[in-house]
Amino acid sequence: MKFCSQCGKDVALTIPEGDDRERHVCLHCSTIHYQNPRIITGTLPILEDRVLLCKRAIEPRHGFWTLPAGFMENGETTEQGAVRETWEEARAKIKVDALYTLFNLPQINQVYFFYRGTLTDINFGPGPESLEVELFYEHEIPWQELAFPVITETLQHYFADRKENNFPFRTKDLIRPLNKPLIS
Ligand SMILES: [Zn+2]
Repeated sequence: MKFCSQCGKDVALTIPEGDDRERHVCLHCSTIHYQNPRIITGTLPILEDRVLLCKRAIEPRHGFWTLPAGFMENGETTEQGAVRETWEEARAKIKVDALYTLFNLPQINQVYFFYRGTLTDINFGPGPESLEVELFYEHEIPWQELAFPVITETLQHYFADRKENNFPFRTKDLIRPLNKPLIS
């Protein structure tokens, strides 16, 4: 950040009084510009034995397969955001069963939530951010063409848990290996 979004003047990185870390602080109006992690919320949509995936029409990872998910909006819950994203990206309606996976990605300041749910009908199709939307049996999953590690982890858990018909909530902190970005 270079300029204050309140007054347009210069900002400086400094530790405000009573704080314990550097913030962008406006040199003119003294506004403290806090930056916090972004929440990405989505679903794992199931129809009988199949899972719905979307082929991304946008960067990063254009052309790779993902679960429907996106940035949470103000004024909604994580579950509402997940349902909304499922509609926007896959034109699919879903009945949410439960929160299933939560991932912290501290190096890129993101938190992912995925809700397990059931498609309420067979009608779906690509929204503006998807090239294709398809249902996959386990043996059809394009494991080498999945967009992000959080997608791979969620699908791996699901197919393992399905054998037991027990889907415990799972959380994991994904730390990026040096020189191998998780995203973009
Ligand atoms: Zn200012």
